[in-house]
Amino acid sequence: MGKIQMTTPIVEMDGDEMTRILWKMIKDELITPYIDLKTEYYDLGLAHRNETDDQVTIDSAEAARKYGVAVKCATITPNAARMEEYHLKEMWKSPNATIRAALDGTVFRTPIIVKGIEPVVKTWKKPITLARHAYGDVYKNTEIRVPGAGKAELVFTSEDGTETRELIHQFDGPGIIQGIHNTDRSITSFAHACFQYALSTKQDLWFATKDTISKKYDHHFKDVFAELYEKEYREPFERAGITYFYTLIDDAVARVMKAEGGFIWACKNYDGDVMSDMVSSACGSLAMMTSVLVSPDGIYEYEAAHGTVQRHYYKYLKGEETSTNPVATIFAWTGALKKRGELDGLPELEDFAGRLEKAALSTIEAGKMPKELSLITNLENVTVLNTEAFIKAIRETLDEGLMKA
Ligand code: NAP
Ligand code: MG
Repeated sequence: MGKIQMTTPIVEMDGDEMTRILWKMIKDELITPYIDLKTEYYDLGLAHRNETDDQVTIDSAEAARKYGVAVKCATITPNAARMEEYHLKEMWKSPNATIRAALDGTVFRTPIIVKGIEPVVKTWKKPITLARHAYGDVYKNTEIRVPGAGKAELVFTSEDGTETRELIHQFDGPGIIQGIHNTDRSITSFAHACFQYALSTKQDLWFATKDTISKKYDHHFKDVFAELYEKEYREPFERAGITYFYTLIDDAVARVMKAEGGFIWACKNYDGDVMSDMVSSACGSLAMMTSVLVSPDGIYEYEAAHGTVQRHYYKYLKGEETSTNPVATIFAWTGALKKRGELDGLPELEDFAGRLEKAALSTIEAGKMPKELSLITNLENVTVLNTEAFIKAIRETLDEGLMKA
């Protein structure tokens, strides 16, 4: 059987540590034997980001803009320890933050549901999709460590020179201050992305902020959503039989715990970061969640929601056995392949991506799984597999499925 052909490359953003190891195994075992893979490769591994003064991250975002579909491996966001470990010239920014800022998108994260791994929240019957605004707020902040007594003010100078001032705090000793922002343009595109995703997946949309405390900042998010809904989305929502619902973030958290699932929960940037980790953990694992960044002009970047799994990598380097879950990284690849297939009219490519996803899930349902899932499954007679053996087991399931077809 010949390999599946592609017409347009996928932008491939390689990454760090254990996920970089997974990346190669997944390509070698589950993708290139079946697809004549076309990618434009960018090495976002920390060493290469450092060599290129992080230009490679910017270039990869540009390439995503050019081709429309990217797949990204988890990457290290440097901190003080990493400065030493990798002899960095600078504490480079989070690549995700750079890419999100360049593409100005919304991140949609959905738990991957599999038989045998039940959500800890008993009422959840269907997945809850988190829609995370991916621009601004604390991720684009400016901070000052206040050394001692003094006055902190918020000043906005308009282009004609007019100043608007607000007192933040009269310090009588040391402290801290932080400035954050967002733009109407970004909030509006976030709202459009959420409404459109709800329509395309026929699911209710919830949105929540802390507008009772943040009477201008958070309240503005609420207003933008409400206005847009009335103007453009009320009718299509009613026709689709779905609803838009706004509530306070605390109320949303309480309701989510009693809900059945099957809806989209839109969150501001920070809330979305934290809540998506909570939802995925409650569904079993950070590695059982899909994540895609959708930009307002239709660029899709697929990734895993977890990090580089550093502790496993150090074990791997010592030659010890690891059992790292590759499912989220596999689904990042299948998401990108499916989208490429859809955009380029390649049903075979879409079909293959679907089969690979099914093979990964059937392997788990057959009782073969990485360690972290074996600890929470209600299946009996489970076989715990190491990183490589699990990927090979998925390949066997995939081949069996392909033989039958
Ligand atoms: P992490 O890599 O997500 O890992 C946290 C812990 O979760 C791991 O130690 C592991 O627990 C478990 N885990 C996560 N993914 C797993 C998988 N696929 N299979 C099995 N277990 C898994 O987060 P972190 O340790 O906080 O961060 C490590 C690095 O990743 C940092 O440098 C951070 O900057 C970066 N990061 C990158 C991204 C991204 O690129 N999207 C996101 C978050 C963090 P056990 O060790 O107990 O087995
Ligand atoms: Mg997070």
